[in-house]
Amino acid sequence: MACYIVNKNAQSNGDHEVHKEGCSYMPDIDNQLPLGEHASCNPAVTKAKKTYATADGCAYCCSACHNS
Ligand SMILES: [Zn+2]
Repeated sequence: MACYIVNKNAQSNGDHEVHKEGCSYMPDIDNQLPLGEHASCNPAVTKAKKTYATADGCAYCCSACHNS
């Protein structure tokens, strides 16, 4: 299990990126919305989409969930 967060700020393409704790591309702490612990990025992104419909996995730490 790992902790996941979603960036409160959208990227230039409108996506809110989901990161696994420890990723070097994590946003500043003020811009992190905690998603809790998940076994993989899939349930983390699903949870993030309840807040941000455009949530998407980070290309580096959540490549399996990175779509755009
Ligand atoms: Zn990441």
